[in-house]
Amino acid sequence: MAGKNIIKEAVPMRKLPMNERRTTFKEVALGYNLEEALKEASRCLQCTDPPCVKACPLHIDVPGFIKLLREKKFEEALNKIKEVNDFPAITGRVCPQELLCQAACVMGKIGEPINIGRLERFLGDLEISRGIRIPSLPKSREKKVAIIGSGPAGLMAAARLRKIGYDVAIFEALHKPGGVMVYGIPEFRLPRRVLEAYIDYVKKLGVEIKVDHVVGRTVTIGELLKNYDAILIATGAGTPKFLKVPGESLNGIYSANEFLIRINLMKAYKFPDYDTPIKVGRKVVVIGGGNTAMDVARIALRLGADVTVVYRRTEREMPARREEVENAKEEGVKFMLLTQPIEFLGDERGWVRRVKCIKMRLGEPDESGRRRPIPIPGSEFEIEADTVVIAIGAEVNPLIQMTTPGLKTDRKGRIIVDSEGRTSLRRVYAAGDVTTGEGTVIEALMEALKAVQTIDKDLSEKP
Ligand code: FAD
Ligand code: SF4
Ligand code: SF4
Repeated sequence: MAGKNIIKEAVPMRKLPMNERRTTFKEVALGYNLEEALKEASRCLQCTDPPCVKACPLHIDVPGFIKLLREKKFEEALNKIKEVNDFPAITGRVCPQELLCQAACVMGKIGEPINIGRLERFLGDLEISRGIRIPSLPKSREKKVAIIGSGPAGLMAAARLRKIGYDVAIFEALHKPGGVMVYGIPEFRLPRRVLEAYIDYVKKLGVEIKVDHVVGRTVTIGELLKNYDAILIATGAGTPKFLKVPGESLNGIYSANEFLIRINLMKAYKFPDYDTPIKVGRKVVVIGGGNTAMDVARIALRLGADVTVVYRRTEREMPARREEVENAKEEGVKFMLLTQPIEFLGDERGWVRRVKCIKMRLGEPDESGRRRPIPIPGSEFEIEADTVVIAIGAEVNPLIQMTTPGLKTDRKGRIIVDSEGRTSLRRVYAAGDVTTGEGTVIEALMEALKAVQTIDKDLSEKP
């Protein structure tokens, strides 16, 4: 490092002005322009044994793509990323990079780590603005793979399998492909034009996406196995968890899933051009401390509500990305920490009006590694609410498991896979949240990549 001109401070990313953030669904983080990207890229030390690569679940050649970016070889830089990641404009936006590649970056020890995700996003956005190039495909292998679910795991696997010559069809339950990226993560964090560009790319690769196909209901895995050589289950973990406290079925109380699907899939993000297909009250209470809770809170705020996030631990233990907690605070979301709802109280018409809570203190760490919240006796109090959204997590939907004899699951209903993505059934594989429980986009992509390699290996073997 001696003799190098080290720039300790990272190039900040511009954000949308606050007045627009509070009232529109426009993207908040504006990304780097060329000058900013080149400046940030120039800070990278080009480590010979780069820890950032090991810390990235996809092991992207970070110094490699940054070097090419520095040399303004944008196409080559992008190709370096696309060796393992087809969707850099997505990962660059939503990856918890502060816990992964950037947490490991050597520059973090002497100053601020390189903003690897933002550089990745810069290249991804550049590619989308120029039009994503469709690679020429190899000769067909005359083998068909069905993928169930079109979230990040399903889309990644579909693109990869097509690129090595398999015929691929995706079966998606909803009327739009994208999984959580379309119905969960809001427009102001992941613009739909980015997602649509990648879905269009997957389609142009020759993947058939069959929407409105609920596997387990319209068709079963057993039936699909008659027509396809392999099946990849990538159905995510989209079934909401509830608090199981009195009053939870009152009107005005939603699961985060229901709230997000109504808002995101019914175009409420185009508010005020479209009417909101959900009643969002004046006083909204969001329960939870993860990315979902932050997204719900920030959506409700944009729809004009006074929003309070109620979380049973402290800010330190919140699973949400730091950047999103900061954004929520900046925009005016209030936080009520060390607080647990114990009952919902309604009016005579059955609408929620107040949330009865109890104060908590932190004890020893539990199985999640975070300190266990313990109720403080006698500390009960009530807060006003006319809308409540429960965002305390989600679990795997049991439909496919219930309709597929022999498919093994664990006690939480997650599909059990071996270290290469094989399920207990021959020619059936699984990847993403359906195997891990609620995870992240990058984990889903990593699992998809692994399953693709296994499917290719197994289908290439002579019968
Ligand atoms: P999913 O994205 O859940 O996709 C599964 C798809 O399968 C869905 O489209 C579903 O409709 C379909 N499906 C389900 N059952 C069937 C069936 N029977 N037949 C056919 N199709 C079916 N992660 C991050 O890394 N960063 C973030 O900032 C982030 N924010 C998040 C915000 C919210 C609100 C939520 C809910 C999650 C967030 N996550 C984030 C988590 C991340 O989105 C998930 O880990 C990821 O989407 C999992 O990908 P997947 O492909 O396994 O499943
Ligand atoms: Fe560059 Fe940081 Fe990776 Fe080193 S660890 S190669 S400085 S991004
Ligand atoms: Fe970092 Fe995520 Fe990109 Fe990997 S995919 S380099 S973890 S931002």
